[in-house]
Amino acid sequence: MDNIEFINYCENKLSEKFKKADETAYFNQVKVVKAFSEYRVALRHFNGTTGYGYDDEGRDVLGKLYARVFGAESGIVSPHIVSGTHALTVALFGLLRPDDTLLCISGLPYDTIRGVIFGKDNGSLKDFGINFEYCDLVDGKFDYEEIRNKFNKKVKVVYIQRSRGYELRDAFSCAEIGEACEFVRSLGFTGCIFVDNCYGEFVEKFEPTETGADLAVGSLIKNAGGGLAPTGGYICGKQVYIDMIEKRLTAPSIGLEVGSYAGGYQYFYQGLFMAPHTVAQAVKSSLLIGQAMSELGYVNYPSVDKIPYDITRAIKFNSAEKMIDFIREVQYASPVDGYVCCEPWDMPGYEEPIIMAAGTFVSGASIELSADGPVKPPYIAYFQGGLTYEHGKYALERILNKIR
Ligand SMILES: *Cc1c(COP(=O)(O)O)cnc(C)c1O
Repeated sequence: MDNIEFINYCENKLSEKFKKADETAYFNQVKVVKAFSEYRVALRHFNGTTGYGYDDEGRDVLGKLYARVFGAESGIVSPHIVSGTHALTVALFGLLRPDDTLLCISGLPYDTIRGVIFGKDNGSLKDFGINFEYCDLVDGKFDYEEIRNKFNKKVKVVYIQRSRGYELRDAFSCAEIGEACEFVRSLGFTGCIFVDNCYGEFVEKFEPTETGADLAVGSLIKNAGGGLAPTGGYICGKQVYIDMIEKRLTAPSIGLEVGSYAGGYQYFYQGLFMAPHTVAQAVKSSLLIGQAMSELGYVNYPSVDKIPYDITRAIKFNSAEKMIDFIREVQYASPVDGYVCCEPWDMPGYEEPIIMAAGTFVSGASIELSADGPVKPPYIAYFQGGLTYEHGKYALERILNKIR
């Protein structure tokens, strides 16, 4: 089989999974369009505002749309949230007070959040007297015994990371998250169940806020922005918690009454409209690359016989050279900076040198075709995104030409 025949062979094997991804996209597309209609979205919502931004309808309605789509009571969507890490930071600082405990039940959180939680003398939660505990996963699943052991009255926020981050495990489904929520409630927990929802949005027909979580937080340059949002983050959930968080986003005395954006909101609205479809394109690109890499004998997650619960894929190469080749081909397949050869570098917020392919229209957007990973054994590359399935397929063809 030449590489094109090999790709066709992989595609044929995936037809059932592709159908399921399309079904999910349709379900979510309807959900999104109905929300637009309910909130009577009109051209005026796309207008930019300046200064304080009082009565900024574009900002207010965007928050309501996200809340509706996430089955949540309230939502904050803001271009002033600079990234996923910032959205998570604002939410945690809004919720927690000195002497409270944050309990993470999905292992250590994502690399850039660690400095936020327990960094030393950098203004972390720890510097403000907020305690942190975590429970390791067992075989990538929640360890309920350990959660019971770590649980105590000081725990005010239970934190769950849906996607794998730089770990070799599968993402949690919303059903699994729902089960964990039920379990912590059964321990008598009345505080906030918080989900880092990065890379999970629209992959399933439900969001964690519809299966028991109180808050879902994420980035707009990943799934939720549909590839169009130029920056920003969202925080959706229970009104009581959004009330606390909006005061941290701006100031305790003003909350969400203010916040202007001169650039206007069209791409935020259009991005949310596109997101269900775009996410399905990314899911299918990930499935295709996963199938092909499995056929070639590379261990990768989620395994080919499983339904993915986020858009990312972890591929183990066992050699720096192979991993770097893979990532470079993703860059060479990119529409922007496609002539660039990737090199590892010391990215802010990460401990190891990271190599990253992101030849994207929106700088660093990983809903667009991208791949990255810390260059250290066992040399795992994390692949995600693809605004169109065809683009993912082209990247795979290039990768196969290089490594097969
Ligand atoms: C990407 C990501 C983050 C952080 O988002 P940035 O926008 O890169 O700051 C947090 N958690 C998870 C699971 C992620 O994938």
